[in-house]
Amino acid sequence: MSEALLTVDRLTAGYGDAPVLHGVSLSLAPGTVTAVLGANGAGKTTLLRTVSGLVRAESGRIMLGGEDITRMPVERLVRHGLVHVPEGRGLIAELTVDENLRLGGLWRRGHAEARRSLEEVYNLFPALPARRRQPSQQLSGGEQQMLALGRALMARPRLLLLDEPSLGLAPRVTADFMGLLRHLVDSAGLTVLVVEQNVKSALSVADRGVVISLGRVVVAAAADRLRGDNELRHHFLGF
Ligand code: ATP
Repeated sequence: MSEALLTVDRLTAGYGDAPVLHGVSLSLAPGTVTAVLGANGAGKTTLLRTVSGLVRAESGRIMLGGEDITRMPVERLVRHGLVHVPEGRGLIAELTVDENLRLGGLWRRGHAEARRSLEEVYNLFPALPARRRQPSQQLSGGEQQMLALGRALMARPRLLLLDEPSLGLAPRVTADFMGLLRHLVDSAGLTVLVVEQNVKSALSVADRGVVISLGRVVVAAAADRLRGDNELRHHFLGF
């Protein structure tokens, strides 16, 4: 197996005095999708927020491409190729589609590079060019999720963290979104860690699944295995 892009080693983190994550370890091979699954309150969002520097790690280590990024400030993480799309998408409602996308490219060094990325993103999401002058709040939920992904891609991430991308989307729109994500991973070598309540749709796109319960990893397995093993599915995923 190729060397991991992301390695999380015995990570403990939480809010105030109460740890939410208790020694979480996982590793992501480059060019793969890993789904983080588990019940409400299990700690999935906290895991993403800790990897992306929004919650401070109390102990343990996070390595990205062989470099220790534990407690690295968020803006440096973006420069290292790690981009987080939070639950709710984090778009600025009053700004236009174009302005939201340009914000994602602020980290890029040159104007020409940012302009090239902008055109690439518009090519990737055919619904967006016609809406470029509209405020993002006028887009449908699916279009907003595409815009959030497009904005993340403007920073040319190596590792993309996605929190509940299917939230509020119709099944058809979710399927389109997951298909596009898979295309990006397969064609551009992107690596994705995605938190999902929608287990079926997450496992349809993922290579691996990690189930978190009460802040601990209880299962880490190939997505095929999670889909095919009835006992595992019933016990940990509830379907
Ligand atoms: P969900 O799918 O419901 O979002 P989750 O698995 O993503 O669940 P987290 O959001 O990581 O779970 O929450 C894990 C625990 O941390 C919960 O008990 C939650 O109440 C607590 N928690 C989350 N955010 C905060 C915060 N900002 N301050 C204090 N506690 C928090």
